[in-house]
Amino acid sequence: MTMKAIAFTEQGEVDVLKYQEVEQPTLATDEILVKVQSCAVNYLDIHARRNRPEIKQKLEETGKPHILGSDIAGEIIDISGTHPQLTIGDRVLLAPCIPCGVCPDCNNGYENLCDTQQLLGFQTDGGYAEFVKAPAKNAIRIVDTLSFVNASALPIAYLTAWHMLTTRAQLKAGEDILILGAGGSVGSAGLQIAKLVGARIFATASTDKKLSHAKEYGADFTINYINVDFSEVILELTNGRGVDVVLEHVGEATWEQSISSLAKNGRLVSCGVTTGNIGKINIRKMYQKQLTLMGSALGTQTELRTLVHLAEQNKLIPIIDRILPLENAAEAHQQLESRKNFGKVCLIP
Ligand SMILES: [Zn+2]
Repeated sequence: MTMKAIAFTEQGEVDVLKYQEVEQPTLATDEILVKVQSCAVNYLDIHARRNRPEIKQKLEETGKPHILGSDIAGEIIDISGTHPQLTIGDRVLLAPCIPCGVCPDCNNGYENLCDTQQLLGFQTDGGYAEFVKAPAKNAIRIVDTLSFVNASALPIAYLTAWHMLTTRAQLKAGEDILILGAGGSVGSAGLQIAKLVGARIFATASTDKKLSHAKEYGADFTINYINVDFSEVILELTNGRGVDVVLEHVGEATWEQSISSLAKNGRLVSCGVTTGNIGKINIRKMYQKQLTLMGSALGTQTELRTLVHLAEQNKLIPIIDRILPLENAAEAHQQLESRKNFGKVCLIP
């Protein structure tokens, strides 16, 4: 049996994404088949399409086109194995990570650190398709009142931001936080989560339009980072104190300014390096101010379930920039590449 999908046989620019007939997935034991109702697009998809070596390897090994898409919500239409907690017709969100489940990290509850974990749509075929298969244990049931689009927005961006701010940096009510690139998907998710926690939010973005959106979603102060040292603005706005937490995902270009923005006992939490891997630090200032620098890698299924719970209660309503038909995946990629979106872009088969 075949299905419609956006798939590619070699990596490259958006024109490699072809809407085509491909084989429908066949289930192994303990897997489910899901009819995709919404798949959110992530910047990772663009890297995967362009040049990520894992994708190149998969294309070479399988000789089959690759299907992107890690953020998937839909309906279960087939189940293999015995899974009494799941029923055909269930509305589900798929947790994007497939951890090994047996290594010390998995056993300690840090499945996000598992060395052999796979990501849906990356090492496996994903949700830019009519149907996708996944391990049954990745299914998270969602209530009827949570839309597939809103559910699909949660996994990568919101889970990353949630793990960064609540689990790693332990952001508290009343603290000050600086969120870099508040228009991007992790930035805008971080903005909403920081608001939910009750922090005072300083947000940067590159255009006045994005800054006004950031204000709408709860930023207390906004900074256009073009042509300014944002750390100077932060120090001015906080009477020289700095912020308690910086949400950093830019890397080399902002690293030193991000550290200079921290207050005493400040925490910098990083999940990305879009501008480069290497950053300098003044070690003396670091220990004198008792700074903490921490990394953060996606999050766990338990945390994703918490986010689903918040979304089901409308305490967290994901920001959706636009919804496009699956055929328009190239347009969705262009939207993200040009950084014109504020919030998630979702594809509907
Ligand atoms: Zn593992």
